[in-house]
Parts: sequence; structure tokens; C-alpha cells
Amino acid sequence: MKRIALIGSTGSIGTQTLEIVRNNPEEYKVVALACGRNLELIEKQMREFHPSFVSVGDEEGAENLRAATRDLGIPVASGMTGLCEAAAHPDADVTVTAIVGMIGVQPTLAAIEAGKTIALANKETLVTAGHLVKKAAKEKRVMILPVDSEHSAIFQSLQGNTGNKISRILLTASGGPFRGRTREELEHVTLADALKHPNWSMGQKITIDSATMVNKGLEVIEASWLFDVEPSRIEVLVQPQSIIHSAVEYEDGAVIAQLGTPDMKLPIQYALTWPKREYLPGDRLDFTKMSAIYLEQPDMKTFRGLEFAYRAAEAGGVLPTAMNAANEYAVAHFLKEKIRFLEIYDWIEYAMDTAPKMAEPSVEEILAEEADTIRRLGEKFLK
Ligand code: NAD
Ligand code: MG
Repeated sequence: MKRIALIGSTGSIGTQTLEIVRNNPEEYKVVALACGRNLELIEKQMREFHPSFVSVGDEEGAENLRAATRDLGIPVASGMTGLCEAAAHPDADVTVTAIVGMIGVQPTLAAIEAGKTIALANKETLVTAGHLVKKAAKEKRVMILPVDSEHSAIFQSLQGNTGNKISRILLTASGGPFRGRTREELEHVTLADALKHPNWSMGQKITIDSATMVNKGLEVIEASWLFDVEPSRIEVLVQPQSIIHSAVEYEDGAVIAQLGTPDMKLPIQYALTWPKREYLPGDRLDFTKMSAIYLEQPDMKTFRGLEFAYRAAEAGGVLPTAMNAANEYAVAHFLKEKIRFLEIYDWIEYAMDTAPKMAEPSVEEILAEEADTIRRLGEKFLK
């Protein structure tokens, strides 16, 4: 039986992880859950999965949840301390990081420190603290198994090829809801337009990131850390149907890809069952009913997320943090309809242009740069 600590249990990845647990009760046991503010849902999850420990975003929420679940006798903590405690729970074998944003840095490092296998969905942590995560995982001999669909596809395409040289990684992208639009056409797109992803149903932040292609940029950096490949050898290709989930090209020219329907439960489950595969209910690809699968180059001039990410990856230091923190802050404002779609790019660019140079930043320096990015953006754009 695999014992799971799940941080971000009420979100899109979190609830799909619990669906897998629900369908395989003999194989998995949830030992810790954490979320931000969705107390109603986490209470339901506590009643269904009986974890030994729970944490929520703030102390007020924790007080309310304790009162509502007194009959269960499950300890409820809050804040960063509680989040790290949940992620590193002593009974857990694997920690699923389904939390959104670079708030995942500290709990992910705490889980690695405690020797947990990491099933990683929380890409912002690898983007901002990849060097620290890799180093800690190596020292603790901890496996980091990707949950992000493209990275899972790459990981699957690497199986059985230990020692074989990779020439390129082909990272596929759907192109999001605005694929093919010009910059002028993006001037006045609305929040509702941006939230209409053609293929995937996901949390709001990543859905906006898919529309700006910042998501694909973050994924380039994520892939370079996960698979030890320089960003210049990671090629992004738009594959609008999201059937080819990504591929690896080897020295001899062979391209090995993973294909499937767009269902996040496959990569989530594979991170839990690896190296085995297990039955997963759901639709199967029917090639006879499919129109042509086509691929095209991304429009990096209009959708600047990729340009920023290649630049951040090359510079290293706190530039990826400035890029990511600015994006998180800008997207939060876009989600409240306080700024326009294209302004997200202006905010990221400004934050990167004004970021300090620094090699190998510590956790404290990364968090300080996050705070400083928010300060700089506030001074520039919110006065
Ligand atoms: P979501 O917004 O649906 O869920 C986020 C979860 O994080 C929620 O449970 C929320 O309560 C929790 N959370 C937020 N702030 C918190 C805080 N301060 N303390 C504790 N918990 C907090 O997000 P999602 O779409 O499930 O994405 C989660 C991560 O997985 C992101 O990093 C995203 O990029 C990545 N990812 C998601 C998908 C997808 O299909 N949704 C696919 C690939 C990668
Ligand atoms: Mg992805």
C-alpha cells in the first residue's frame, strides 16, 4: 500500500489524485491533506479519506475547520508550518505536490528532506528553485516523478533508454484558446475568453498561463531541470489536439512519443505506479475517427511566454524567480479583471529587466526576490 501526502488537495490535480485513490482503495492511503481556502471541500475529503493530518491556508480557516470536524479528531494546522508538516508527514511514502505557485518551494524541499518520493505537479517550484530541488533530491536519493502531462510523456519516452543520448526534447503545446491570433486581436480579449481552454480543464492560473504560453515557458525550464537537458535542445511544437503529449529524439534520429487522450489522471497515476502501469478507466484514442494530427511552430513574437522563459533559463540566478513571481502577480490581477491580457507580458518583462544578477540563490534569496518583484511591480504599475 502506498501512503500519500497531498498538498493542494482541493484543486484540479488534487481532486483527480483523490479520484485515483477512491478507485483503488487497496492500493493507496491518504495520510495528509493540505489546501488553501476551500474548507467545505477539504472537510468532505477528511470525512472520506480519514487522513492523520490536515493543514489549511490560514489560522482562521483552521479554527473553523477544527470546529466543524471535532468528531473526527484529526489535527488541523495552518500556514507555511502546517503545509511543510503535511508535505513531510512521517507516514507518507510519496508527496504529491498539487499546490499552485511558488508557495510550493518550501513544502517540496521539506518533503525531499524527509526522504519522500515526489510526484511533482507544482512546476513553479522547479522553475524558481530547480537547482536546490535537484541538489536536495540527489543528496537524499529521492525520485522526482513528473505529473505535468508533457513531462510525464517525456519520462515515459525515456523508459528503457538509460545511457542513450538525447538529441532533442519535443515539448508539445496546445496553443491555448488564442492560437493563431495577432497581437492586435489580443488587445481586448476578456477573462472569460482566456479561461476557455480548448482541450484541458484545469485550475484558473494554469489556464491563463496556457493562453499566454507562459505555461509552456515554465515547462521548458521544468523539463530542463527534470531531464538535465539544456533549454536550447528543448523544442516547443504546437499540437492543437493535445494527442501527442511530447516526445524524445535520440542520437540515431528515432523519435519516441507518448500519445493519449487529454486526461490528467494518466500522468498522475503513472507517477504513483511507476515503473508499473495499471488499468485506468476512460476514453481510448480511436485513430480511425481522428482527423489528421498536425504540428506547427509556436508564434513566439505574439505569445511572449516562451521568449521570457528561454531568456530566464539562460541567465539563471533569480531571473526565473522574477519571471515566475511577476507572472503569478500579474495573473492574479488579470483574474480580478484589474489588468488587460497583454499587460501580463509587460509586467513580466519589467520584472525581468529590473531583477538583480545572482548565481545559485538560496531559498531565502528566492523568496526575497519574489517579494521584491511584487514591490517593483507595485511601484511601477499600481501607483
Ligand atoms: P488549482 O488552482 O486547481 O488548485 C490549487 C491547489 O493549491 C488548491 O487545492 C488550493 O487550495 C491550494 N493552495 C493554493 N494556495 C495555497 C496555500 N497558500 N496553502 C495551501 N494550499 C494552497 O491548481 P491546479 O490546476 O490543480 O494546478 C496545481 C499545480 O499543478 C500547478 O503548479 C499547475 O501548474 C500544475 N499542473 C496542473 C495541471 C492541471 O491539469 N490542472 C496540469 C499540469 C500541471
Ligand atoms: Mg503541461
